[in-house]
Amino acid sequence: MTNIVVLVKQVPDTYSERKLSGADNTLDRESADAVLDEINEKAVEEALKIKEAGEGEVTVVSVGPDRATDAIRKALSMGADKAIHVSDAALHGSDAIATAKVLAAAISKVEGFDLVITGNEASDGRGGAVPAIIAELLGLPQLTHVNELTVDGTSIKADRYTEDGVTHLEANLPAVVSVGEKINEPRYPSFKGIMAAKKKPVETLTVADLGVDAAEVGLGNAWSSVLEASPKPPRTAGERVEDEGDGGSKVAAYLVAQKLI
Ligand SMILES: Cc1cc2nc3c(=O)[nH]c(=O)nc-3n(C[C@H](O)[C@H](O)[C@H](O)COP(=O)(O)OP(=O)(O)OC[C@H]3O[C@@H](n4cnc5c(N)ncnc54)[C@H](O)[C@@H]3O)c2cc1C
Repeated sequence: MTNIVVLVKQVPDTYSERKLSGADNTLDRESADAVLDEINEKAVEEALKIKEAGEGEVTVVSVGPDRATDAIRKALSMGADKAIHVSDAALHGSDAIATAKVLAAAISKVEGFDLVITGNEASDGRGGAVPAIIAELLGLPQLTHVNELTVDGTSIKADRYTEDGVTHLEANLPAVVSVGEKINEPRYPSFKGIMAAKKKPVETLTVADLGVDAAEVGLGNAWSSVLEASPKPPRTAGERVEDEGDGGSKVAAYLVAQKLI
């Protein structure tokens, strides 16, 4: 029996125009469609594969505003069994450290968990820090940038692909694993899965329910802050090369001037 926790984050859809709120540089959540982060769909898929290979239970845990329930329901409709949703106005603007503290406390609510699966990096905050902080807080080993994962009794084996080859990693359970984008192709929820998800238990908790002090979370208590953000400058028009029989040399001269060749 593998008792798996998957951390899922609701993020603004990368296909929408994403903005920061002018008032405090936190995310303007209303300006974009919200979706379950794709890397977290892959984390759920990996958990479901382990569950389907033997006995197991998958609990999804999310820290986010009320509408994060949509992301949670999607994970449940893929096949996860139950969920914990931490939702509290005090969490607005929390930094990665505070978010990780709250997630660690929520994970500890899942009795006898063996494995925590996360994404390497969320597509909005892109800190890539939360899983490592959680591993430290819970005193657990962490395997990062995982491309292949196997549970082997009381230990876990993982492969990480690098430019130079494959790194084989191993840790005793319980452990935290963060997965890379190439790990799998997540399944689409089936109609049956969507219907079943409506009845699956979702426990909604506040920071007080988790025993976390509200003075440790939120924008006012963040240890770091976003001071300024500016949109990417629009693309400038490219250089046009007229081919009058010497197009190749002109392109080569341009590339030399740009120090590209
Ligand atoms: C617009 C904007 C402004 C921000 N401002 C600040 C700021 O001022 N100061 C600051 O320190 N930070 C700021 N952040 C970072 C913000 O606090 C983080 O989004 C949050 O703490 C998680 O970090 P991350 O998104 O970088 O996660 P990562 O560490 O990149 O996430 C990796 C994985 O951890 C898990 N995970 C992460 N967050 C959650 C969650 N909420 N619920 C469940 N699982 C989760 C997921 O599995 C995810 O794939 C800002 C982020 C945004 C988008």
